[in-house]
Amino acid sequence: MNDIVHKSFKDKQNTMPMPVELGTGSKHMLLDRILSLIPSGANINSCFNCGACSSGCPASGLSDMDPRLFVRMLSMGMDEEIMTSDWVWMCTTCNRCVHVCPMQIDIPGLVLFIRNNWPEEKRPRGIVDYCSLALEHESCSITNISSDDFKFVVEDVADDVRQTQQGFEQLNVPMDKKGAALFLSQSSRMPLTEPSEMAPLWKIMHLAGADWTYGSKGWAAENYCMFLADDTAWEKLVATKAGVVDKLGCKVLVNTECGHDFFAVRQGLEKFGISHSFEVKSIIEYYANWIREGRLKVNSDWNLDLKIKFTVQDPCQLVRKSYGDFIADELRFVVKEAVGEENFIDMYPNRSNNYCCGGGGGAIHTDFVRERLSYGKIKLEQILETGAAYCITPCNNCHSQILDLSRHFKAGFKTIHLWTILCLAMGVLGKNERKYLGKDLAGVDHKKRII
Ligand code: SF4
Ligand code: SF4
Ligand code: SF4
Repeated sequence: MNDIVHKSFKDKQNTMPMPVELGTGSKHMLLDRILSLIPSGANINSCFNCGACSSGCPASGLSDMDPRLFVRMLSMGMDEEIMTSDWVWMCTTCNRCVHVCPMQIDIPGLVLFIRNNWPEEKRPRGIVDYCSLALEHESCSITNISSDDFKFVVEDVADDVRQTQQGFEQLNVPMDKKGAALFLSQSSRMPLTEPSEMAPLWKIMHLAGADWTYGSKGWAAENYCMFLADDTAWEKLVATKAGVVDKLGCKVLVNTECGHDFFAVRQGLEKFGISHSFEVKSIIEYYANWIREGRLKVNSDWNLDLKIKFTVQDPCQLVRKSYGDFIADELRFVVKEAVGEENFIDMYPNRSNNYCCGGGGGAIHTDFVRERLSYGKIKLEQILETGAAYCITPCNNCHSQILDLSRHFKAGFKTIHLWTILCLAMGVLGKNERKYLGKDLAGVDHKKRII
């Protein structure tokens, strides 16, 4: 977009908060299509230019754009400017703008609409390739891991745990177990690049006495087609997963610490009317219940003297966009049990009002790295304000992005998975499962205090 036009347009907006006057005709092709395709036109007609969306959007200012301006430009038929701004790929579809918008205007829905209309050859390769790869494989994985590879890696790591970790000699990692109560999804990142990170999760399932299984098909917890707004592909991935879970007769598809796939599956089942006989739940619900029932003997004694401080990231795909505050409260219960209530410091704002870290919407796999890190500065400030030494991230995308933020800005705090701190607080965290811990925790064992 021409800078001069843009700046004068912005100045005009700042001084003239007028109601949008909608037009029609060739200049308004995008608007016309939105009004005809999206239910209620995503409420775009109701915008009264208050700016609440922009004030709380971490993507405001990137590519000289913000959500209010975006809605305004769409309404005014500035199609060319919209279609030449990369901003739609920097918005993480985190829904914070919708959360604060008095008119409930579906800005991420509009963003996805524009993405869907983007010239194919100009879409970010990372998102496009990950969608294509997932469609090619019965695993639904964004990697080339075959069913046999997945089974091999799982069995190899399980074997190592059985041989080297006391108390887990009988560890069983079920695969394609018919009639298991729980079907666990698994981020491809683990079997591909850090297989030993799967072991803490299995040990939790083992200690809880859970009746669960992986599937050799449909196991991958990712859906980048959703970020392309490619409904046909999104539906295909969800239908494949649903078919696998139903064929095995599992009652619950349990999402293991991945925000976007949780949303993609749960929303996809409803949006596309995919018939299924199971529920979709986050593993955080199970962690919390198993602790309450005494099945997971988590306690925070290891931190009595250390007093190491922790904060937690609320994944917006899981909290704001799916469960609401219930799951955020369950998350806090689990974390406080593991680290001690006095050692937990919340970010502000939090729960459904939390800021996205900047890794969502596929942004973690685009070339807009500088913009992604800039987006994350609000999250970085939030974490630093807590003074916590650790940020717990129960979502793989949040984990990657917050890890990047800490490293890039040399912020000093560590970023860990929820399963890591749970196993540490049960005294069962293996030596090669401590990759993300700092020196202060690398040698801590709950039972012996120090290894
Ligand atoms: S918060 Fe809603 S009404 Fe206000 S400017 Fe943003 S989209 Fe328009
Ligand atoms: S969805 Fe999130 S990143 Fe996108 S415009 Fe709304 S607040 Fe900003
Ligand atoms: S990366 Fe995390 S915080 Fe950002 S949209 Fe995804 S789940 Fe939400």
